[in-house]
Amino acid sequence: MNILVINCGSSSLKYQLINMENETVLAKGLAERIGLEGSVLGHRPEGKDKVVIEHPMPDHKTAIKLVLEALTHPEYGVIKDMNEISAVGHRVVHGGEKYASSVLIDEEVLKTLEEVSHLAPLHNPPNLTGIYACKELMPHTPMVAVFDTAFHQTMPKHAYMYALPYELYEKHGIRRYGFHGTSHRYVSKIAADLLGKDIKDCKIITCHLGNGASVAAINGGKSVDTSMGFTPLEGLIMGTRCGDIDPAIVTFLEETENMTSKDVNNLMNKRSGVLGVSGVSSDFRDIEDAAAKGNERAQLALDMFYYRVKKYIGAYAAAMGGVDAIVFTAGLGENSPECRYFVCQGLEFLGVKIDEEKNKVRGKLTEVSTPDSKVKVFLIPTNEELMIARDTKEIVVKLK
Ligand code: AMP
Repeated sequence: MNILVINCGSSSLKYQLINMENETVLAKGLAERIGLEGSVLGHRPEGKDKVVIEHPMPDHKTAIKLVLEALTHPEYGVIKDMNEISAVGHRVVHGGEKYASSVLIDEEVLKTLEEVSHLAPLHNPPNLTGIYACKELMPHTPMVAVFDTAFHQTMPKHAYMYALPYELYEKHGIRRYGFHGTSHRYVSKIAADLLGKDIKDCKIITCHLGNGASVAAINGGKSVDTSMGFTPLEGLIMGTRCGDIDPAIVTFLEETENMTSKDVNNLMNKRSGVLGVSGVSSDFRDIEDAAAKGNERAQLALDMFYYRVKKYIGAYAAAMGGVDAIVFTAGLGENSPECRYFVCQGLEFLGVKIDEEKNKVRGKLTEVSTPDSKVKVFLIPTNEELMIARDTKEIVVKLK
């Protein structure tokens, strides 16, 4: 069974075709600049050279059509025809309160997704566009929606509510939802395996540290808290997002800097985070380089980032009444020994001991704590696409 995993952004589309017999990637790629001048598709068939296809892509439907052509191409394709795609798994950012797990897409689901689109205005509309385009091009292929928010639907009410007038929750759904759920779920399962325990008996803190970053507290396999909230802006300091700030700063900026709410939103999402503090870059590689060369603001940005992650780990250990394992994943979590080291420094009181030698590793599943560390620390590469494909398979096999 081959499953096509699709992740549609506003002007991009990432895909992977995965053979579920052995969970191997047959091909993957990225269509960029959809709807813009100079659209291009980079297609990587397994075991063959990467192909770059420059072709106008005025919309996502054209992009998906090109992807399907690439996948079935006589030279650089990996399957003979589209019938070899058993199902499509779509990454959908927001499932609102309705979806606590992945679902088979039908008219009812589409209607609900349209209804919750206002909760993720930048993400859900392109996700939906991708679904509609696939529906037109492959009308008989079952499709599944896998939500970033679903895994966090197990958060208790006292963790997901904001202390705002209760009516705003009822009227607009203003509450904490959390994101990166597919990644937190994937790495927490592996962590439980590495601990040699049933996940029901584990308290795990997962740190998804990429350009977007979040921490989750996973007790007994269930997310009980996570750092992102109503939107992905809350919580950790990120590449360009500020994370937690005093909300009074918003109105202060509007009044004193004469900014509109759109300006402030843009400032908090695009011009803040480690980019805003360092003035160097949103990419942690550039910031680590600049800090190593003595750039004080770059160092400050890193110190602030590590400190915020550490605070969340402490908070979540308290929330769960302990922690068995801390997991680092995503771009920075997987590739920066410095990040893992400095986040864990000072957590010895919790029983965390990093093995500095073992920690000198990038992108490879590794236990980076010492054998006598009470709390295990793991580097676990995330694989959201595989998780989407697994969920899709689980749902579509039941259709037969
Ligand atoms: P992601 O969003 O998971 O793709 O992560 C992307 C981010 O990971 C980049 O913006 C970098 O800041 C960070 N990253 C990737 N590789 C490295 C590395 N070798 N060292 C430090 N940071 C890295």
